[in-house]
Amino acid sequence: MSGIRPTGFLHLGNYFGAVKNYVKLQDQFNCYFMVADLHSLTTHPDTRELKSHVHRVLAENIACGLDPEKVALYCQSHIRETGELYLYLNMLAYKGELEKTTTFKDKARQQPENINAGLLTYPVLQAADILMHRASLVPVGKDQEQHLEMARTFANRFNHRYGEVFPEPAAYNFGEELVKVPSLDGTGKMSKSENQLATLYLADDDDVIRKKVMKAKTDAGPTEPGTPMPDYIENLFQLMKLVSSEDQIAYFEEAYRECRIRYGDMKKQLAEDMVKFISPIRERAEEIRTNQGYLRQVMELGAEKARASAVETMNEVRQVTGLNYY
Ligand code: AMP
Repeated sequence: MSGIRPTGFLHLGNYFGAVKNYVKLQDQFNCYFMVADLHSLTTHPDTRELKSHVHRVLAENIACGLDPEKVALYCQSHIRETGELYLYLNMLAYKGELEKTTTFKDKARQQPENINAGLLTYPVLQAADILMHRASLVPVGKDQEQHLEMARTFANRFNHRYGEVFPEPAAYNFGEELVKVPSLDGTGKMSKSENQLATLYLADDDDVIRKKVMKAKTDAGPTEPGTPMPDYIENLFQLMKLVSSEDQIAYFEEAYRECRIRYGDMKKQLAEDMVKFISPIRERAEEIRTNQGYLRQVMELGAEKARASAVETMNEVRQVTGLNYY
């Protein structure tokens, strides 16, 4: 189980941190993937635009290879049961631990005029989404590690207080480290809403991709063998490892070691490999996005599958909590 907020265009971080693994998991497991529209309300977006953002995220997921027939691909707000589980879990989540969450502290800094209770309990709603399907594997990027730890805590507290209902969910990347795709400017990570010029979006056209990559920060290059790589150069190599061939990577690594690297050439290569990777996804997504009838069918089918699982879980939750009396 996993989700993506409809707060903007999907980017390379969403792809390599999350969607790529969704696609790998869909043939092996019973999967639930959702567009987290309720979570996006914590930052007070214009809700008149939500529908088109939800459509975009769905279309981009499908364009990346997710098959709505194989998985439950749904919209969070269509599963009303989540509100009930969120409420129960809120009674097991403490103010102190929620206030200490890194994402809460970051958001509170970014929007000091809007530190709402939904923002504080964001990890509780996320836990409700995951536990609703009694999921054990949660494919997410590195930034979600702490939230998953909290979901485990809430699951354990619930089980301990009322009875075993939930398995322990864990962040999952096929046994590998969780992924963090760095931004092009050498500071932080690619993101839907911040750092847009340093983020490559799956909807960027070829020239925009080239421009963004060519603007990435570099320097005059190493002058002595053994010079440690600055962060912003290491990030470029990291990005290359996502889309370029092993030969190309080896070529530029050797050029770095031998102090003859030309960053202009490296960025040109990276830009072309990014264009080759992104453009087919962009084109497929655009086609799907404009097919509103199809997207409606996808959402209805997804909600039907997710609701069936939610109803089953909530019956058990009401049973063990004893909240099923008249
Ligand atoms: P969000 O865009 O915050 O709704 O996140 C959706 C998914 O993408 C989550 O699983 C995140 O962990 C993942 N994600 C977002 N940004 C990055 C990034 N720069 N690198 C790796 N994964 C990311």
